Amino acid sequence: MSNLPTAIILDMDGTFFLGDALLPGALELLDWLNEQRIQFTFLTNNTSRGKQDYMRMLTGLGVRKENARIYTAGDATVSYLKSNYPGRRVLLVGTQSLRSNFLEEGINLVNEEPDVLVLGYDTELTYQKLVDFCFYLRQGLPYIATHPDLNCPSPIGPMPDIGSFMALIQTSTGRTPEVVLGKPNAGIVQELARNWGVQVSDLLMVGDRLYTDIALGQTAGVQTALVLSGETHLSNLHNSQFKPDFVFENLADLLQFFSS
Ligand SMILES: [Mg+2]
Repeated sequence: MSNLPTAIILDMDGTFFLGDALLPGALELLDWLNEQRIQFTFLTNNTSRGKQDYMRMLTGLGVRKENARIYTAGDATVSYLKSNYPGRRVLLVGTQSLRSNFLEEGINLVNEEPDVLVLGYDTELTYQKLVDFCFYLRQGLPYIATHPDLNCPSPIGPMPDIGSFMALIQTSTGRTPEVVLGKPNAGIVQELARNWGVQVSDLLMVGDRLYTDIALGQTAGVQTALVLSGETHLSNLHNSQFKPDFVFENLADLLQFFSS
């Protein structure tokens, strides 16, 4: 048996599912992790959906409710705001579901006179939201982004994600975020390791993207496994500064490796 990780962090898009279809080995891996009593959670940078949306999505794909454990870059952002800006007035550019998650966590969301500005992956973005956000950015307020992704994978191809919005905002205001949470910010896995009571170096991050999932190896010191079921082809890996500890075709391949 190969050396088993103490806990596994699973990316979702391009790793566990693509569009509305599970990828090979997805459900079998969860069963095996439970059998082996290996801790796991899903971790996604995508802040366009709330936790409830992901729960529904995963259970709809056949994942048992108790296995649908989800940590998002939105959770990491809430945690960061509570530590660094407790009780402060937050202007959030984000979807209704992200707003709901922030409000449930007690974040003081406002539309005027904010203390802090937070940019999420807002698939309900309007021109007015951009105008307001840039107006307050020009006043020099702290600027936080929930994650860095340039594009979001979809069955029809890449769609502009928050990193593309950041580029637009930078062109207008000259500003870039002081803090970008989500993968590969080390804080997100440090918090998971703390919650589980394990060392960060005992964690295995499994994902399909080099500059977020696999970059966590360099930024946080977790072990990483790249799956080729999403946006990365082997040819991208050869030219990348981010080198995974393991490479698998998909989760079925990973499961076979660790269980044999
Ligand atoms: Mg992915």
